[in-house]
Amino acid sequence: MNLSVQSYDVIVIGAGGGGLRSAIGAAQAKARTLVICRGKSNRSGATLLAGANISADIACDGETLARLGVSQGNKKDTKDAWFSDIIHEGFYLNNQDLATMYVETAGDRLAEMIDWGMEVHGMEGAREVSVFGSDILDTMMRRCRELNVEFMEDTMFTDLLMKDGQVCGVVCVDLYSGEIKALRCKAVVLATGGAHGIFSENSGSSDLCGEGQAAAMRAGAEMIDMEMVSFCPTVVTWPTMYKGNILPYILFSTGYGRVLNKYGKTFTDRYLSRHVERLALDSEWNKMLLSYALNAEIQEGRGTRQGGLYYALDLHPQEIMEELYADLPPLKTGIYADIMKIFEADRSLVIKPAAHYFEGGVRIDTACRTSIPGLFAAGECTGGMFGANRVSAATTEMMVEGAVAGNSAAAFARDTSLLPIDTAQMEAIEAELLKPFTNRGGQSPEQLRSRLHAISAEAMPVIRTAEKLTEGIAAVEELQHELEHVTLSDTARTYNREWRRSLELRSMLPVAKTMFKSALVRDESRGVHVRGDMLRTSNVKNLYNIVFRGESLEDAKAPAVLTRMKPEIGEWSYTEYIEKIVAEETGEEDA
Ligand SMILES: Cc1cc2nc3c(=O)[nH]c(=O)nc-3n(C[C@H](O)[C@H](O)[C@H](O)COP(=O)(O)OP(=O)(O)OC[C@H]3O[C@@H](n4cnc5c(N)ncnc54)[C@H](O)[C@@H]3O)c2cc1C
Repeated sequence: MNLSVQSYDVIVIGAGGGGLRSAIGAAQAKARTLVICRGKSNRSGATLLAGANISADIACDGETLARLGVSQGNKKDTKDAWFSDIIHEGFYLNNQDLATMYVETAGDRLAEMIDWGMEVHGMEGAREVSVFGSDILDTMMRRCRELNVEFMEDTMFTDLLMKDGQVCGVVCVDLYSGEIKALRCKAVVLATGGAHGIFSENSGSSDLCGEGQAAAMRAGAEMIDMEMVSFCPTVVTWPTMYKGNILPYILFSTGYGRVLNKYGKTFTDRYLSRHVERLALDSEWNKMLLSYALNAEIQEGRGTRQGGLYYALDLHPQEIMEELYADLPPLKTGIYADIMKIFEADRSLVIKPAAHYFEGGVRIDTACRTSIPGLFAAGECTGGMFGANRVSAATTEMMVEGAVAGNSAAAFARDTSLLPIDTAQMEAIEAELLKPFTNRGGQSPEQLRSRLHAISAEAMPVIRTAEKLTEGIAAVEELQHELEHVTLSDTARTYNREWRRSLELRSMLPVAKTMFKSALVRDESRGVHVRGDMLRTSNVKNLYNIVFRGESLEDAKAPAVLTRMKPEIGEWSYTEYIEKIVAEETGEEDA
């Protein structure tokens, strides 16, 4: 392994919005800052895909939006009202201190982005400003350049280097040369996004495999509420060339199209009361509620041959098509124009709920510190902000947490000195990373990855059961054992995709196991975590977060941080509690 002669105050892992905003925060605080990124520095991760890059939303309260002159805004919509909605939407599992930080600083983050040149296209809803995901990244990238942030692209982070329980550097692989590098630093910010790669059906990009979460776990950091995974309900599963595309979700959210079972019938009223169904069809609650109804319909055997449901878009009369193109002009270009040809030919798409956003992750406090000295985290790889369900913007989360994490990491770096590297640890990591090159007779990374996908589809769909989760944990343990013997057909170090896949599995397997175990421990249904064998929500016994320390999956229940709002104590069926929460949020008695 090559130990770089360069050292840094702060190394940020990931160049989505969370990583770039962390780098800005650290560099503004005068830290020498390096961003390491698997792909290109402002063209990777989920930030680029936000709103399908047609219309991503950044959230802020109406009063602040009006003050910033972004919209007329609802001046009566205060930060407190927004906070209250976020806690309801998170079913009281949110860390309320983190949620306070979110609502209090969202306006500052939005204002600076506009100041730095981000274009706002209008409003998507009362609290949602519409932008392009690519513009978020370009704006942050310009600012990074002004601040002399350094970048290392096409480089895959694998591990944290530790000295006496404190972070002292990172290990990464140059994806072109295959060279393994170690870099020294005083503080690290993890901003590696979600762990979409664990799921065959996912809406994310292929560079999101949970290496940040896995490295944090290996270093002994705390992980919170890993069972909480939001599914996007209407993601293309067929034709397979468009698999993972969320266009039907964008169309549906704009008001166009219908989801039908294999008999051509609508079905959401089977699973949701009228009021809740209205929210599922007409509001931002749609992710959680529709994913539940769609998964239930598929499990009832009324899915299509390809295992999903139909998304049908009726473009007749022609005026409707004109309305659609007027509402969403990007539909006339690129891949969207190709997908639209399917509808124009009177065909439909097969869609399915797909893993989309990870509420759980590395546990942070309001300084974005993890439980490991020198390790900070921001964005989707963190957990705790949104509790059991996210409705408000994740783009805002990555900016809010990034700003804090970068600043905190720089402050930490100022007060510490570079620690010596433990060469034994470095050599052990190197040997582990290179082992696939000398293995013989094992399965290929692609075979193991397909098996992981089959396991996660069974164990961790929207609706889970203890039986399937238990089987899933055992199956992942078996895969972990087989990964020790994973065998490559291509043994060159240079741009070896097979090797990269095996490195991804090294992270995805422990992260998947932690998710399954969390889902097993939470023996109730709450928010996006639906247990088909326990369709009840209990505020009597389950107002806790599930926190695992490192790779140990010992049961650890930490009381939810309820500093400002407390829920009613009682027990309800899953859907009754949704109705109750919605009624509390909207103030409507008949919910
Ligand atoms: C299709 C889609 C649409 C969405 N739409 C919206 C929306 O409209 N509004 C909204 O609020 N939210 C939306 N979200 C969620 C939101 O986009 C993400 O939560 C947010 O962008 C995450 O930002 P991040 O910086 O934490 O992670 P990401 O943007 O995912 O960035 C992660 C970065 O880490 C890098 N990385 C990962 N692993 C490694 C490694 N091992 N080594 C080096 N680098 C690594 C990646 O290459 C990438 O640069 C959407 C998500 C998806 C998938």
